[in-house]
Parts: sequence; structure tokens; C-alpha cells
Amino acid sequence: MKTIGIVGGGQLGRMLAMAAARLSIRTVILEPQADCPAAQVANAHIVAAYDDESALEELAAHCNVITYEFENVPEKSAAQLAGKRPVYPPARALSISQDRLTEKSFLNECGIPTAGFHAVDTRADLDAALDLFGGRGVLKTRRFGYDGKGQWVFTGSGDDADAAFAALAGAPAIFEEWIDFEREISVIAARGIDGAFVSFDPAENEHRDGILRISRVPARVSDELVENAKIAAEKLLSALGYVGVAGLELFVARDGRLLANEFAPRVHNSGHWSEAACVISQFEQHIRAVCGLPLIDPVRHSDCVMHNIIGDDMDDIPRWMATPGALVHLYGKDESRPGRKMGHVTVLHPHENHRNG
Ligand code: ATP
Ligand code: MG
Ligand code: MG
Repeated sequence: MKTIGIVGGGQLGRMLAMAAARLSIRTVILEPQADCPAAQVANAHIVAAYDDESALEELAAHCNVITYEFENVPEKSAAQLAGKRPVYPPARALSISQDRLTEKSFLNECGIPTAGFHAVDTRADLDAALDLFGGRGVLKTRRFGYDGKGQWVFTGSGDDADAAFAALAGAPAIFEEWIDFEREISVIAARGIDGAFVSFDPAENEHRDGILRISRVPARVSDELVENAKIAAEKLLSALGYVGVAGLELFVARDGRLLANEFAPRVHNSGHWSEAACVISQFEQHIRAVCGLPLIDPVRHSDCVMHNIIGDDMDDIPRWMATPGALVHLYGKDESRPGRKMGHVTVLHPHENHRNG
């Protein structure tokens, strides 16, 4: 029986382990936190830091192939594992996506447009960026940002550039042009070891306080735009020699431009609906890709809306449990805290359910 090593033990690792189990594939998690969501469902759990060399040796020894559930796997760890076993997605996808500057530069090199951007290492760089983009945009740390953390929005009036620069505390940053977007979408796509490419229908995403709250499928965009979003994902994955599932986030600007924001070299929150509305989930597609199994066209059989369950949203779970057409998926976390992702609910055929009250 095949065994997959998964670096990271959060909800994404948990859902990958569940998908693997359905195919009789074993999983071993590497995760420092003893009581983590993935350990509850994986076959084994190595409790150690992501850069613990002997733990990485142990993981490689027990597995045929290694993957990961988050993009901040230390580069050194990925290299150590790659010396022993195939590691998918490839290390290059990790290193490019770990830094917003290399990420946006790479997207542009692939012919995928992004917002304009300017590297900010000094206070003078920030002034230059503000001049370049008319004072409006977003200052972001280049590394380790997620859920909108490490970001400062500049509206063009009353902004405190000194305070924002000081808050960076020396971290390298990037300033991005402000995009007046009509909506945000994402494409979840997969590429196999043989180069096969498949893509889920784009989701339309709504964020609150920088955190994804709702994904709707289909996205309310033209067929041409759907096609262009899928083409962008294909360009990116083939340029990376990618193996596995990736999520590409895009802005549909009011002026009609389709601009990439960032990509995640892993399964993605905005693809969780696939488990309910498609013949294959993003999780199984990823497991298939990294194991060299055939990818299948992720045909979507239902329209849907996915709601993230964050912090106090847990109070709504009894109501969701009794809602027709709603698939509840919880991550096994005992304690809800503000901003903490506890689960998600995918409502199928939301229009019909609405009519039914
Ligand atoms: P994630 O949790 O998706 O990894 P993140 O912390 O990496 O988030 P981004 O995706 O870059 O951050 O930004 C978070 C959100 O902030 C975006 O989804 C979008 O709503 C808004 N945003 C980011 N950059 C811009 C921009 N240049 N113009 C307008 N809005 C932006
Ligand atoms: Mg991000
Ligand atoms: Mg994002």
C-alpha cells in the first residue's frame, strides 16, 4: 500500500488524509502541534518541528511520496526531503510563492498580468511607490502573510506612511497598485506527473477583514473570462513543471482586466465546495496527482455556495445541520477563537433552497 507524507497538520492536511484514505492510501503527518486536525484522521503523526532533521528523515523513510498543506515549508526541509523521496508540488513552486515579489514577477514572466508593484525595503522606496501609484494601494510584507495579515491599505488621503513603514519592523515589503475590482475569483487546477491539466470552475470569493468568508460557484462572470482564468492557471502550472493542486486568486477589475493576485501551491480554501458539488474534490485530485494516478475532469453537477465557519459562526452549526442541501464539514478543533477557521458549509443549489425557504 502506498503512503503519502504530509508536511503540516491543519484542516487542509486533514482533508487530504481523508481523501487518501478513500483510495486506500496511507498518510503520515509531520506537525509540531500534538492535537492537530490532521492527526485525528491520518494513519500516523510525527510530532516535530517542520525543520527537525531527524523527523524529516523518519517521514521520508515511512513514505513513498511527500506533499505539504501550506506554502511556508522551510526550503531547507523541502530540499532534505527531495533528496530522499519525490516531493510534489516541486520546491520551485514553494520558493516562488513564499515571496510576493518573486511571485508577482514570475506571474508576469508567464504572461499573466498582476497589479503593478514596487519593492519596498526603505522608507524612500515607499515614497517612490506612493508616487508611482497615485498614493493608493496596499503595502504588504513579502513573506509569511495570510488572511490579510501584514497589510496596510493606502486610500490616497490621510494615510500614515511613517506608521505603516515602522510597523514592517524591517521586514522586506512590496507595495501594490490599488485594484478597483468588480469581484474576486479563484481557479483551482491540477497538473499530473505526465503534464495532464484539469481545472475546476472558478469560484467567486467574498472576503471580510482579509479572510475568505464565502465562495460561490459559478462565478458571475462571462464564459470568456472563465476560459481566460483557466488558461492563466494552465500557463502557471506548466511553467512551474507543477504536480498537484494549486489555487490561483484573481481580480476581475472594473475596467475589465483579469489580474492575478497570488497563488497557493496547495489545496485552497476557495476550493472546498468541490467535495460537495463535483464528481471529484480538490483533495482527491491532489492525492491522485502526487501519486501519479489519473486526473479526472472535475465535472460540476451543482451550483453552490460555500460558507466558511469562523470563530463564533460555530453557533450557527445546529441551524446548518438542519438546512436542506447543506453539507457541514468541521475540522475537529475544540476551541473557537476569533478568526479561527473551524469548518465550512457548502449549500447545493442555493437558489432552489432559497425558494423553498
Ligand atoms: P490569503 O489568506 O488569501 O493568502 P493574503 O494575506 O495572502 O491572503 P492577499 O490575498 O494578497 O492576502 O489579500 C487579501 C485580500 O485583500 C484580497 O483577497 C483582496 O480582497 C484585498 N487586496 C489585496 N491586494 C489588493 C489590491 N492590490 N487591491 C485591492 N484589494 C486588494
Ligand atoms: Mg496569500
Ligand atoms: Mg489571498
